[in-house]
Amino acid sequence: MPRPIEALVHTDALAHNLERARARAPDCRSWAVIKANAYGHGIERAYEGLRAADGFALLDLAEAERVRALGWRGPILLLEGVFEPRDLELCSRLDLWHAVHCDEQIAWLAAHKTHRPHRVFLKMNSGMNRLGFTPTAFRGAWARLDALPQVDEISLITHFSDADGERGIAHQLAAFDAATRDLPGERCLSNSAALLRHGVKNDWVRAGILLYGSAPDFPEHDIAHWDLQPTMTLRSRIIATQTLAASDTVGYGSSFTAPGPMRVGVVACGYADGYPRLCPTGTPALVDGQRTRTIGRVSMDMLEVDLTDLPAAGIGSEVTLWGRGPGGAVLAIDEVARAAGTLGYELMCAVAPRVTMRVA
Ligand code: PLP
Repeated sequence: MPRPIEALVHTDALAHNLERARARAPDCRSWAVIKANAYGHGIERAYEGLRAADGFALLDLAEAERVRALGWRGPILLLEGVFEPRDLELCSRLDLWHAVHCDEQIAWLAAHKTHRPHRVFLKMNSGMNRLGFTPTAFRGAWARLDALPQVDEISLITHFSDADGERGIAHQLAAFDAATRDLPGERCLSNSAALLRHGVKNDWVRAGILLYGSAPDFPEHDIAHWDLQPTMTLRSRIIATQTLAASDTVGYGSSFTAPGPMRVGVVACGYADGYPRLCPTGTPALVDGQRTRTIGRVSMDMLEVDLTDLPAAGIGSEVTLWGRGPGGAVLAIDEVARAAGTLGYELMCAVAPRVTMRVA
């Protein structure tokens, strides 16, 4: 019997969430962002749920090859472009569209003897100061690309730093609009937060996290508000129980002290499985679909949950760490992430290789 922990990917939920994104931007085409191995879900598994997308946006050639191997003939966008000149060969063989964010990438294209003209997404640094040409340098970059026989189409792209934050997007939108007003080409601006919170729609939207049933980092709404469904379940079982008396402590560091008689269940899931060690006592979990809380510190291979009010629970009971529980119960990954002081993005990307992941 293998250790009783597994991760399930819900392809119906991926398809549902993509549909929700499309409903918010009905006249736009939708990239499904599947970088980082589809936010930890596995590209091949995620593809099953996301194949109604208009294209796939990702980071490297190996990921692009995997998508082509699945039979996808539509657009694929390399969000950071190529990392060295020789990547352009495979890039054109796989018929990839690619971002261009720096002078070096333009020079590599100019020197490339391509058999297929390239479609590029010229990236503006409109305020995030990560990738892209400043608004002042943008037009010059556009003109240099436009003069290249290796390039047949130029689209315009930027990325928001605070679509889910206090500062918002107005300053970046203004910078982008001012610098691109009379330039031709399709526009691609929105990540999940810009779409959900600010309704930014252009020729293309570029949602990632919302497809995976996690809300961006804004506190006002959870996934139910946006009608999104969890796409990943991390589940395990109770492998032992302990009965505590008042003032007994639980786990490393004795960080939890029982206020009175209690029963706790030991769950086969720890930080070596990708469950955040920073989750404190009180982090929500489901036991047989019933909500309870974690108790004490998360250790490498185990954590403990409160069974005091769940007398029927015992060894073998199913524990949902996040995602879909029995009987239609749902525990959003965002609730667990918030308890750990992080975001759903990080949790779903960090499920450990020792956890078997499969399509539900
Ligand atoms: N576009 C770019 C350039 C990104 O780096 C990301 C993710 O970080 C996305 C789109 C998707 O963002 P989100 O997952 O917040 O929708």
